[in-house]
Amino acid sequence: MRYFDHNATAPLHPAARVAWLEAAEQFPGNPSSPHRVGQRADAALAQARQQLATALGCDALDIVWTSGATESANAVFHHTARTAASGAQVWLSAVEHPCVIEAARRYFSGAHRFIPVSHAGVADLNWLEQELKKGSPALVALMAANNETGVLQPWREAQALCRTAGTPFFCDAVQWLGRLPAAGLGACDFVSGSAHKFGGPRGMGLLKVPAQGRFEPLLAGGAQEEGRRAGTENVAGALALVAALVAREREMDSGEREQWRAEFETCLVAELPGAAIVGADTARLWNTVSALMPEADCRQRWVVKLDKAGFAVSTGSACASGKETPSHVLTAMGYSAADAGRALRFSSGPATTRADWAALLEALKQVAAQAENSATAARD
Ligand code: PLP
Repeated sequence: MRYFDHNATAPLHPAARVAWLEAAEQFPGNPSSPHRVGQRADAALAQARQQLATALGCDALDIVWTSGATESANAVFHHTARTAASGAQVWLSAVEHPCVIEAARRYFSGAHRFIPVSHAGVADLNWLEQELKKGSPALVALMAANNETGVLQPWREAQALCRTAGTPFFCDAVQWLGRLPAAGLGACDFVSGSAHKFGGPRGMGLLKVPAQGRFEPLLAGGAQEEGRRAGTENVAGALALVAALVAREREMDSGEREQWRAEFETCLVAELPGAAIVGADTARLWNTVSALMPEADCRQRWVVKLDKAGFAVSTGSACASGKETPSHVLTAMGYSAADAGRALRFSSGPATTRADWAALLEALKQVAAQAENSATAARD
């Protein structure tokens, strides 16, 4: 099977597997236990925390281990709701992942505003700058890279605008981490990430918070993580997360891969009349293609037929797949529901080759030809 669904989840990186197995054997203790077995686990966790902080460019004490980016995002909005003045707003881009949008709705129902995006899917910094002059919300959220389209967001510029305005800034870096350098993300007040998106284990996430000041925990219970997240830490998971990220940062070299993706896109548009690339002229993650397919077949059937041909692809975000509501990301970009309904997402990984992209193109052409033949036969 050729796997083109890395934005949904990525295979375990060998370095993460080794780190997890070693940690599970070598650090059986609870990091909160005062005996030496516990303290060894605590020291290993502290070392992993420091490595992650170094990669992001922040203080080790800024890092909180979580179960994934969904928990991290919920924790950020929960904290903001607990600490913000009554009636305060939160602003978030219209193309955020559902875990950010729904957390904003849950904690700030009616007091959340969407930062508009251009047709290319990029958040409107002008809007943000002008609105921040009129008043400051309790939080601004802008993701680093979009999961459906791969479009990169101007998070550094948004963070700088927010810093000037004294507004806390949250960056969902789930799709960025492991694909582009993590350095600099630590300047954001809050950052979320999920290990399984970059070759770490599932159920393990990270949250960067400001070390100073109190963080209102989402989970109540023990005093772990400096009182910012209750529950026994997943030591092996944290060590595997860091091992995966460090390995991905070391192996990062997108030059050729970007070229293969570009070749695929050019041929797709040229050889399948009616196909179009979302965000074609915009800076995007090197691994992601969001393509509007010819109307030859419904997109769920494309996925099934490609699966049979040996290719795992997606209709968009994993959460939205399986139900046919138009993508909120594409509709925010101005696409009609009908066009949004033609979108397929192909997301490669570090091991995807030029031959894999070429094979995917051939399979798409074959599925399109089959659909065309069936449509002709039905008409005749
Ligand atoms: N943010 C983005 C951009 C994502 O793509 C995802 C997962 O698809 C998440 C957050 C949520 O991650 P998880 O499901 O691992 O909690």
